Amino acid sequence: MTQSEIIAIGDRLLVPVYRRAPVAFTRGAGAILWDAEGKRYLDFFSSLAVCNLGHGHPAVTEAIRTQAEKLLHVSNIHHCEPQAKLARALCENCCAQRVFFCNSGAEANEAAIKLARLWGGAHGGRYEILTALGSFHGRTLATLTATGQEKVRRGFEPLPEGFRYIPYNDATAAARAIDPKTAAVMVEPIQGEGGVVVPSEGYLRELREVCDDAGVLLILDEVQTGMGRTGKLFAHQWAGIEPDIFTVAKALGNGVPIGAMLSKDEIGRYFTPGSHGSTFGGNALATAAALATLEVIVKPATLAHALAAGQHLMERLKAMAARPGIRDKVKDTRGLGLMIGMELTEDGTKVVNECLERGLVINCTANKVLRFLPPITISLAEIDEGLGILQEVLSQ
Ligand code: PLP
Repeated sequence: MTQSEIIAIGDRLLVPVYRRAPVAFTRGAGAILWDAEGKRYLDFFSSLAVCNLGHGHPAVTEAIRTQAEKLLHVSNIHHCEPQAKLARALCENCCAQRVFFCNSGAEANEAAIKLARLWGGAHGGRYEILTALGSFHGRTLATLTATGQEKVRRGFEPLPEGFRYIPYNDATAAARAIDPKTAAVMVEPIQGEGGVVVPSEGYLRELREVCDDAGVLLILDEVQTGMGRTGKLFAHQWAGIEPDIFTVAKALGNGVPIGAMLSKDEIGRYFTPGSHGSTFGGNALATAAALATLEVIVKPATLAHALAAGQHLMERLKAMAARPGIRDKVKDTRGLGLMIGMELTEDGTKVVNECLERGLVINCTANKVLRFLPPITISLAEIDEGLGILQEVLSQ
C-alpha cells in the first residue's frame, strides 16, 4: 500500500481518537524509522517511550522468533517458562517480590488500584486513592478517574468513586489530604503526559515517609519512566526508596504489548485466586520479548549510555535554548536521563510538524512541552543530527 492509501483507510475506518500526523512508518532500525515512501526519520520519541532499545533490536527479535517457533500462548491456569523467568528477572532487579502481568499501562494501574483496595479493605476499610493533579494513569474508567486532568475525564461521568487529587511535588499536601478512608497515594516519579514535570529531589523520599507515617501504601506509576528511560531501570531507584506497588508497561516488551504490576510480597498476597486476572497477561511471546529486553537494559553499559546520552542531549538543548532567536521561544528545559521536556512559550504543534517534515520525530505534550524520548541506545552522533533539525526549525 502507498502511504496515502494507508492514511486514507485509517481516516475512514478507525475511530478518530488520535490526532495522527500524515505518516505511516513501515520499517525501523535502532533510532531510525522509514515511512511507506522510503523517507528516513530520526526517532526522538521511541514510539512513545516504548521502543527503548530502538527498533528491531537483535536480541529482542531473536527472542520473539525463537518463542514463536515454540509456543505463543499458555493460559494462566497453567505455568509458562518465559513468564516465570521474567518475573524472576524483574524481582532480582527491583524491590518487589510479586508480579502480576497484563497488557498495558492502564491495565497495570487497574491492578494496582484493585490491590490497594483489597489491602485497604483489610486495613480498616480504606479504599480511597490520592493521585496528583497533572498526572496521567490511563484511559480505562478507573485509571482516567485516577488521572488528574479534567480533559481526560470529561464526558465519561459518572466516574468511579474513591479518587481524590493532590498537588504534585508537595508531600506536605499529601500528608494533609490523607484521611481514614485513604488506602494509597499514587504518583508518577516524573509526570510524562503532564509535561515532563520533574519533582524536587526529595519528593519521593518525603512521600514515602508520609505514607509510612500514615500507614497507607505508596504506588508509583513507572509506565513511562521505567525500563531505563531515566538512566536507572526504574526512576524511583534514583530516590533510593521502595514503593509498596509500582507499575510498568510501554518499554517492558520493547514494542510487544505487556504491562506489569509489581508489589511487596505481603501486599501482593491480598490478590487471591479469582480476584483478578487477564487472558493474555504474561503471554509466552510477550514475556519472552520482555525478558530479552530486560536482559539488555539492566546491563550497566546500557544504563550508563542512557545517562551519558541524556546528559549530552540536555546540555545541547540548554545551549540551543540560550541562542539568540531561540531563547525567547523557550521557557524551560528539564528532565532526567533520556526523558526530557523543552517548554515553549507557545503551542508546540507547529515545531513538531516541521521537525517531522524534515525527518525528526518528536512529540509535544501539555500543549507547549516538546518531549524528547529517544531510544536509550541512540548514538551521540544521531542526537546531534536530530538537534540540527530542531535548531533549524526553532530558529525560523
Ligand atoms: N501511566 C503513564 C505514566 C503513562 O504515561 C501512560 C501512557 O502514556 C499510561 C499509564 C497508560 O498506558 P497505556 O496506554 O499502555 O494503557
